[in-house]
Amino acid sequence: MSLYRDTGVVLRVQKLGEADRIITLITQKHGKVRAVAKGVRRTTSRLGARVEPFAHVDVQFYTGRTLDVITQVHTLDAFGAGLVHDYQRYTAACAVLETADRMSAEEGEPVLRLYLLVAGALRALADGHRDASLVLDAFLLRAMAFAGWSPAITECARCGDPGPHRAFSVPAGGSVCPRCKPPGSASPAHESLTLMNALATGGWDTAERATDAARRETSGLVAALLQWHLERQLRSLPLVERRPFDPRPPTPPADPD
Ligand SMILES: [Zn+2]
Repeated sequence: MSLYRDTGVVLRVQKLGEADRIITLITQKHGKVRAVAKGVRRTTSRLGARVEPFAHVDVQFYTGRTLDVITQVHTLDAFGAGLVHDYQRYTAACAVLETADRMSAEEGEPVLRLYLLVAGALRALADGHRDASLVLDAFLLRAMAFAGWSPAITECARCGDPGPHRAFSVPAGGSVCPRCKPPGSASPAHESLTLMNALATGGWDTAERATDAARRETSGLVAALLQWHLERQLRSLPLVERRPFDPRPPTPPADPD
């Protein structure tokens, strides 16, 4: 039996049979891990309460044949307790988990940066010192940067002209100059792009001075960028060539002559 330990955040919990659950975690060292927690649906299970969504945990696993099995859980932060009584914080935290789940598609691939962003965002949402919507947008922008999807905020996304520019195009990847501007580009307020830049770079003083209008506009642009990238990522899947498997004919034995 091979044992390993890691620290992670519980992203998702699914039922498995009568008493078990499949727990999906984003971990520090092993990327996204799906593992079985046995017997956790019994009311007497102490493990069950520790592996709920939003929980930040230290876990011991053993390597199973199909899924790994959780053998011990130690709670580091029960972020759920600070989230469940505030609808805005709760929904923002759900968006953090769902985004992290979709961005860490390859199980076992290390995603340390994304794990740190998830834990940081949940901590900020649970402690309530910052506006939940700003915390979520800052997380989404940094998660997009992790995925290589950072929008161009001041320079032109197409030609690199330093800007700032008036037009913004989600499919083009952010701000666009008058020459590169595709049809249907938005024209966000300068203040909204200033806010987006502050959120992407951790400029909280600037971000917290932003008006409600700028916050709404920035949230809309960030959501549209994320949606566009996630859909494009998944749209490539149907394009994968699916041919009937054609096994090679067996190699004839070498001629003894
Ligand atoms: Zn340009």
